[in-house]
Amino acid sequence: MSKCKGYATPAAKAQLGPWEFQRREPREHDVAIEIKYCGICHSDIHQTRDEWSEYQEEAIFPMVPGHEIAGIVTAVGKNVTKYRIGDKVGVGCFVDSCRTCPECKQGLEQYCTVGTIWTYNARDKEGVPTYGGYSERIVADENYVLRMPENLPLDACAPLLCAGITLYSPLKHWGAGPGKKVAIVGLGGLGHMGVKLAHALGAEVSVLSHSLKKQADGKRLGADHFYATSDAETFTKLAGHFDLIINTVSALVDWKQYLDLLGVDGTMVVVGLPEKDIPIAAFSLTAGRRSLAGSQIGGIRETQEMLDFCSKHKIACDVEVVPIQKVNEAYERVLKSDVRYRFVIDMASLK
Ligand code: NAP
Ligand code: ZN
Ligand code: ZN
Repeated sequence: MSKCKGYATPAAKAQLGPWEFQRREPREHDVAIEIKYCGICHSDIHQTRDEWSEYQEEAIFPMVPGHEIAGIVTAVGKNVTKYRIGDKVGVGCFVDSCRTCPECKQGLEQYCTVGTIWTYNARDKEGVPTYGGYSERIVADENYVLRMPENLPLDACAPLLCAGITLYSPLKHWGAGPGKKVAIVGLGGLGHMGVKLAHALGAEVSVLSHSLKKQADGKRLGADHFYATSDAETFTKLAGHFDLIINTVSALVDWKQYLDLLGVDGTMVVVGLPEKDIPIAAFSLTAGRRSLAGSQIGGIRETQEMLDFCSKHKIACDVEVVPIQKVNEAYERVLKSDVRYRFVIDMASLK
């Protein structure tokens, strides 16, 4: 074990501040990574405030958040074959899984039935708490490490590891492409990647945002249409219109309103994770044989496919790079939807 500097929250809803903890030395199959950048996902805010306590095991504090981790390999274990010192790599939302259940075997490690080992606020196979990317280094098994695009800036690619894959996976799974009308609800970190990716996949893309404030950005990111959900007419005008809606909203919203925007056989995929249940009426689904679905990040194989797709199409995130000392301020700005469109921490500021 050796000392690692990071930022942690000591208890639920407390401010983040400097904290030192221990990381393991690289084992035979491990890669040690110097973290250069880490994105700030809205999930980091939910987790450090313990907003998901109804849905998951007891949170572990102090908590070092961060699961959009991009950096450089500094050491490899003796049996590592995929990476070398100096490679540009990433770690996303999980660092291990059982590797033997049917889901793991299919590359769906994020749905491991034994238990996905999340990058932070979890325990590894030895029962040691995992600590995330708001820190100087991380050690992970090479099979859970991703290769980052060579042709794109590393800071702008870090959020692909959660925001990117969380939208890519459902867009692919539900067939977003030419001839499909896709709506992205909420133009935040996830939503802005949804627009870029759905556009690159060839779909007709609409954004449904609180207001028209981000309209020019939406169009620049690749949206064909942009609507304000504060305008009641949006919901009458677009009734029955979409094949696929991806809902990224982090707060409680009335899902019925959005389900009514689906055409026959349309699907709304929920990826936003509000802290409370949202009731819906059976009628919202029976009318039009509609589906309500959910999706959670993506497996390692699909995440690599997404990174390669982004490299090919030159897609990265729109980021605002901040020093780690500004993390608490950044959280407040995310909560006010005042970020264009993802904060990324420059880990050099930790030194
Ligand atoms: P974000 O950057 O804060 O974006 C969320 C967007 O939702 C905001 O930009 C805003 O868009 C909209 N919004 C926020 N509050 C709203 C309200 N009260 N009413 C209506 N719209 C509202 O967050 P993010 O990082 O993209 O994450 C979004 C959600 O997805 C979070 O709950 C996060 O935990 C979850 N998440 C899920 C997965 C998964 O695997 N399923 C992965 C990562 C994150 P407009 O300003 O355009 O209205
Ligand atoms: Zn995330
Ligand atoms: Zn498994």
